[in-house]
This record gives sequence, structure tokens and C-alpha cells, in this order.
Amino acid sequence: MPYQAEYIWIDGAEPTHGLRSKTRIIADGKKPEIWGFDGSSTNQATGSFSDCVLVPVFTCPDPLRSTGDILVLCEVLNADMTPHATNTRHAAAIAAKTYASFEPKFGIEQEYTFFQDGRPYGWPEVGYPAPQGPYYCGVGGSKMPGRDIVEAHTEACLAAGLGIEGTNAEVMMGQWEFQIGVLDTLAVGDQMWVARWLLERIAEDFEVEVSWAAKPIKGDWNGAGAHTNFSTKQMRAAGGWDAIIAGCEALGTRVLEHIENYGDGIKDRLTGAHETAPWHTYSYGVSDRGCSVRIPGGVAREKKGYLEDRRPNANVDPYTVTRLMVETICGAAAASAKKAPVAKKAPAATTAKATRAKK
Ligand code: ADP
Ligand code: MN
Ligand code: MN
Ligand code: MN
Repeated sequence: MPYQAEYIWIDGAEPTHGLRSKTRIIADGKKPEIWGFDGSSTNQATGSFSDCVLVPVFTCPDPLRSTGDILVLCEVLNADMTPHATNTRHAAAIAAKTYASFEPKFGIEQEYTFFQDGRPYGWPEVGYPAPQGPYYCGVGGSKMPGRDIVEAHTEACLAAGLGIEGTNAEVMMGQWEFQIGVLDTLAVGDQMWVARWLLERIAEDFEVEVSWAAKPIKGDWNGAGAHTNFSTKQMRAAGGWDAIIAGCEALGTRVLEHIENYGDGIKDRLTGAHETAPWHTYSYGVSDRGCSVRIPGGVAREKKGYLEDRRPNANVDPYTVTRLMVETICGAAAASAKKAPVAKKAPAATTAKATRAKK
């Protein structure tokens, strides 16, 4: 029997790229092939030279259709088969290959906000809900709107075989989180984009929209981020502490480049309030949710594990944040390995905390 393949790609919308998809019926026994689309309708080409190319890079079962139907995530290429300017996966693939020996792994915590009728889902038509406090990981009655969508999304991610790790309600009413990991550089980006597509698609059925905005409501309401957790083989191994500190230090050498690529509206979100560090300073510390980069308490106890970059926005491109972290952290490790084969002594777990002005 023929089956349905939903081709998914990332468009050229500004300031934040969005998702597009279309369906192709594929004959029994055939694999999804290269396809194309009208780039002039997605801000990826002009009308007079409109053909863009879709190259399948990741497929998984389609949990919303029938057995045998699939989702097909694609890279976008120009008509001459060169990577399209919006194709951030291409550069991520180069970084992943360059630093493959470090075996980088990621887990991304994706926060987002449901909207309906132009306001956060469940919010009153006029005014505000009760102030923040009861919503984070909350339960009960009308204060947790959207849970049925979250449940359906989790089931769908599991059925698709994605590396979903968990979900939680967030600090602002109508805001939620799911995590994807622990996965390689490209895999976490691929699976995050598919998980985002599934969430938007499922929310359609509930007549709800998903906002990836960094600060959907101004004022005393939390923003939405995409904390990006990172480790190398060395960080995960016994005695990985020195490599973790070196990673935190490396991130402090390219602060602005990261901030500028961590999503639209980042200065509105990284204010220094609401569990953020101000965008223009760089800091890291153990268990500190007011730092740019946090070393989880458990990691400090075990002296190995991973670090959490808390700065990326909910609307960050996962291919871009993973590429930058690999380039900055593995790049610095590779350079220092060349310079000094004997590792320098790093500060002890209890004293690791540094704050520096931006470079
Ligand atoms: P919190 O909300 O306290 O920051 P979460 O449980 O939401 O914590 O997220 C923790 C994230 O850390 C998960 O996405 C997980 O994949 C990631 N993580 C755990 N171990 C590693 C590791 N060794 N390397 C990279 N990421 C990791
Ligand atoms: Mn989390
Ligand atoms: Mn969170
Ligand atoms: Mn976190």
C-alpha cells in the first residue's frame, strides 16, 4: 500500500525561522526521495527563481497518521544543490564532524507558551491571572491550562521514537517545557525540530497556538528559554571537573557571539531577573540559576558530568546553539591540548564561580 510522508523543513521567516511541511504519497517499497518547494512563498527565494530543494536527513514514524506513515525532516538546498542561506544544519554538521573525537552530547530544555485569542492560554480576557507562584510544576483545576496538549505531545514524541526525557509546567501560567536528549550534536537539533513540529501540529487540534517568543508577556512574568546542556567525553569521565571548568571559561571568551545567535529578543529575556543573568555579563557557578552557565549541584558533587548554558531563548535554532557550543568549547580544548599536553589545575568545586564583564 502507498504511505504518507510528511516532509518538514525550516523556512526563511524573520526574525525567527519557522516550520513548514507538506505531504507526499510514496509507493509501497519506495523510500522518500529528494523533493522541492516554492521558496518564494517561504522567504527563501524570489518568484523568478523560486525552486528550492528538500533533502531528507532524518525520518521517524508519524505518530499522528497510520502505521507505516512517516515524518521526513529535510535540509533546504538551492537549485544548484549548494546549502541554502537558511540551512543552519549544514554548518552544524561540519562542526560535529570536526570535533567528533570529543563525542559532544546535548540535552535541550524547550520552554514555550500556549496562546489562544491573542493571550496566553487560560488567561482571563481582561487583566492577569493570579501572580506567579503556583504554576511551576503545579497541579489542580483551572490553573494548569494546556495539560491535555502536553500529554498528547509527549505520547506522540514517544511513538515517533524521539528522545523526549520529560515535561513540566513552567513559572508563568500557560507556559510549559519538554526536554530532548541526551543526543549527539546533529541528532538533538533534528529531534528538537521534529518535536517542535509535532507540538504545533497537535496544538492545532486544540485550536491553540504555540509561541516560542522569549518574553511573551512583559513585566513580572518569566520568559521562555531553551537551556542547553552540554558535555564531552572528557567531562563525562571520572575527573571530568577540569574539562567542565575549561568549558565554562571557554564560553566566557566569546560571549557576544553566542548572545547574538541565541535567539530573537534575548535582551528582553536576559535581564538579570526571573532566573536569568544579564545578557551583557558572563558568569558561571554551581547550582546558581542566576548565572549565565550553571554547573548542576550533582555534577559538582560527582566532579564529572555536564554544564548548562541557560542563555539560549526558546526561539533559538538548536542547530546554531549546538554548533556554537561545540566550536567554542571543543575548539578551546583542542587548542589547549596542542599548547600544553599537561592539564592546568582548575579551581575546586566549592569555589568555582566567576563573573566577568562582557568582552
Ligand atoms: P533543570 O530544569 O533542573 O535544568 P532538566 O531535567 O529540565 O533540568 O534538564 C536537564 C537536561 O540535562 C536534560 O535535557 C538532559 O538531557 C541534560 N543532560 C543530562 N546529562 C547530560 C550530559 N551528560 N550531557 C549533556 N546533557 C545532559
Ligand atoms: Mn528544566
Ligand atoms: Mn524550565
Ligand atoms: Mn535548566
